[in-house]
Amino acid sequence: MSKFLTRSLEKLVPYVPGEQPQDKQYIKLNTNENPYPPSPNACEIIENQNIEDLRLYSDPTCARLIASIAKQKGLEPEQVMVGNGSDENLFFALRAFCDEENPLCLADITYGCYAVWCDLLHIPMDVVPLSKDFTIDPTTYYNTGHTIVIANPNAPTGLALPLEDIAKIAANNPESVVIIDEAYVDFGTQSAVSLINSYENLLVVQTFSKSRSFAGGRLGFAMGNADLIADLNAVKFSINPYNVNSLTLRIGEAIMEDTAYFQKTCDKIIATREATIIRLTSLGFKILHSKTNFVFAKHHKVCGKDFYEKLKEKGVLIRHFNAKRIADYIRITIGTNEQMQVLFEKVEEILREAAE
Ligand SMILES: *Cc1c(COP(=O)(O)O)cnc(C)c1O
Repeated sequence: MSKFLTRSLEKLVPYVPGEQPQDKQYIKLNTNENPYPPSPNACEIIENQNIEDLRLYSDPTCARLIASIAKQKGLEPEQVMVGNGSDENLFFALRAFCDEENPLCLADITYGCYAVWCDLLHIPMDVVPLSKDFTIDPTTYYNTGHTIVIANPNAPTGLALPLEDIAKIAANNPESVVIIDEAYVDFGTQSAVSLINSYENLLVVQTFSKSRSFAGGRLGFAMGNADLIADLNAVKFSINPYNVNSLTLRIGEAIMEDTAYFQKTCDKIIATREATIIRLTSLGFKILHSKTNFVFAKHHKVCGKDFYEKLKEKGVLIRHFNAKRIADYIRITIGTNEQMQVLFEKVEEILREAAE
């Protein structure tokens, strides 16, 4: 820390992303990336990109991509905005709807960035613990009086809330914005987008990073009532008007239009997930009922930290969170069937070594 850092950020603890190792080839099951490449239509755009065009700023209104998303989601363009990853849209939302006097209501176990942004923006947190089995009791979110963020399905648990519960939470907080972070919704959960025209306080955030294989492109989108989206745009145009680069905007459009490829890759990941759950259960793991492209699992013979370290030695990266309530667990991203096969072999080795 330099002597120049503002006093109000002295205690800031930044988010620690999963490793992106540059040295060695790992089987990378640690950051919930998609194992399949983006739509072939995206590759075509990159190949035909005229470098000369990068001279110009990107479209600050992101009009073409927004039109494409709106059409597909059955919304008006005024009900959609895009950001530099859904992280940026979530950050804009916190900036728009919370401040020192207006707390954010969030779960004790959820996506780590929410708490970091509260720290950065000096937003007090109203923490609602998950139930003992890590599920969310929707009634614990009724009449909070605060802006709410819920990852649905939740991360890192992988558990999902049914649409009726999201509707009840929105209905029981008419004076507060309810943000639903749907980073993993395409792997088998009903989206709350269908509720947007019924609840003016509902903001739904999705990303191209997981189900659309475009994490490196940095692209996310937020959907909600046109007034909420206008608020987010006011923040965006006050921070970074050209928040999405022009190449990403064009590729995003191509990815969005290729619904067949999207469906095919999501189906493959869901099938691999179900096979993974069966296999790991047979090896003695206890696994939460995942609706995502990862599983959250624990084993009574080897603790989470040891699994993480031993798998890394064997060339497989997974994620372990050294946090209250979940330190026993590991989070494993669903890769290709071949990658999972290697994971199973290494896990069996570790379990054998532990038994010796
Ligand atoms: C991955 C993830 C994000 C961030 O996605 P980006 O679009 O890559 O910024 C947001 N929320 C949750 C719960 C995630 O898992």
